[in-house]
Amino acid sequence: MRIVCAVLAGGLALCAAGDDVQQRLVGRSLGETPMLADLHELCDGIGGRPTGSAACSRAVEWAAAKFRVAGADRVETETFTVPKLWLPEAAEAECTSPERFALRVAAAPHSESTAGTMEARVVDAGEGAPEAFAGLGSSARGAIALVMSKEMKSLDDLFAEYLKSGPMLEAARKAGVAALLLQSTRPHGLLYRHPLANANLPYSPPAAIVSREQAGRLARLAEHGEVRVRLRLANLTGGAYESRNVVAEITGRERPDEIVLLGAHLDSWDLGTGAEDNGANSVLVIDTLRGMKALGVKPRRTVRFVLFTGEEQGMFGSAGYVLRHAAEMDKHNAAVIFDIGTGRTTGFFLNGREDLRRPLEKSLAGVNGLVANENPIDGIDGTDNLDFLLSGVPNLVANQDALPYLPQYHAESDTVDRVNARELRANAAMASALVWWLAEDPERFGRRQSRDEVLKLLMDTKLDAQMKAFGQWEDFQAGKRGVGK
Ligand SMILES: [Zn+2]
Repeated sequence: MRIVCAVLAGGLALCAAGDDVQQRLVGRSLGETPMLADLHELCDGIGGRPTGSAACSRAVEWAAAKFRVAGADRVETETFTVPKLWLPEAAEAECTSPERFALRVAAAPHSESTAGTMEARVVDAGEGAPEAFAGLGSSARGAIALVMSKEMKSLDDLFAEYLKSGPMLEAARKAGVAALLLQSTRPHGLLYRHPLANANLPYSPPAAIVSREQAGRLARLAEHGEVRVRLRLANLTGGAYESRNVVAEITGRERPDEIVLLGAHLDSWDLGTGAEDNGANSVLVIDTLRGMKALGVKPRRTVRFVLFTGEEQGMFGSAGYVLRHAAEMDKHNAAVIFDIGTGRTTGFFLNGREDLRRPLEKSLAGVNGLVANENPIDGIDGTDNLDFLLSGVPNLVANQDALPYLPQYHAESDTVDRVNARELRANAAMASALVWWLAEDPERFGRRQSRDEVLKLLMDTKLDAQMKAFGQWEDFQAGKRGVGK
């Protein structure tokens, strides 16, 4: 240990006791690196990359090549199964009566296609509550249900939008609607992919997000008489298929069989180019390996750098990784996931594990110039930590400022020009400092929990309710997700 005090390229003051290598990794990450050039290649060059698409496959090859050029000790692509295919092909809509005007729509992932072009009456289904559908009675049968929404302003609003899907779909099926038009929660005509179900659940009835302002016009017109809409949604659907994760390694110098994992998902939705979600953190993972190689440092344990796909379909890449590496789960000392764009990292979600708080604080004590002291106990279901949590592996999710990223979430506007380069560098510095420490510290970061402890944690954090809402609970019970100790 030694005392280091310096002002680094990013203008962040560092003054703390820490591991010399940790400081050097931070300094490198804050300076000039190829990370942003990588992000431009991935997002502008390859673009949106939904799992199952040719673009996703190209992204996998691109990332594997990046790891190889950076000098990884080992690079593999590993296959896993996604239960069902869904890719968008065409989405067209038009109001035909009482006035004719074009509607901007984006098909909702995991919804069915319409039977060619259909035309039907619009019925107002309020905000999509089951009572609203029930109140429509027989008028809903064969109609296009218009579901209105509040404007999304917070992460809680976004979660609420997801949580309402299950009951809404059930009510829509019961009411016999032909299709759903969901008012965009974002103004200025912005469209986004809004998955109505994960790939392990049945497809929903045909559904699309419609421009917020145009949905408002339809609803106002419907108050005065019949409104008719012509709709064509064509989606490519199919059964189970294989996708790939990219797994790169720096082999540990003393305990090569022990693993610290840094992960992010490489796949994205397609309307934008997946810059914030999650290209930025994919290039962060690549650059963390590159930084260690550039400085010629080798940690005590193996660091595994994993770029998952299948995340947007319901985290099937990380589920597949855990099943494939089940025999190694005891040796996974930690899994660290980044998935909230380029928002400032203020700490890490502890995912229900208070026992990780002190070791985490210790691991970042040497880089307190970066300030990462907001470490909430909350459990996260919605990114690639989940299957590590279910397997009892200590897992962290970067606690990033979500507000700048929210309007772009899964949207047309998720492009490279929205990325905050300064924050991305600081996040990369944080990732390399943390991962280095976790792989270097002679003490293990945290122990592996038993199945019973995991079950208690799921109840305590109320993750069980979220897993049930997202159709993950049954897969966990059936042994398709997570491996018990
Ligand atoms: Zn994401």
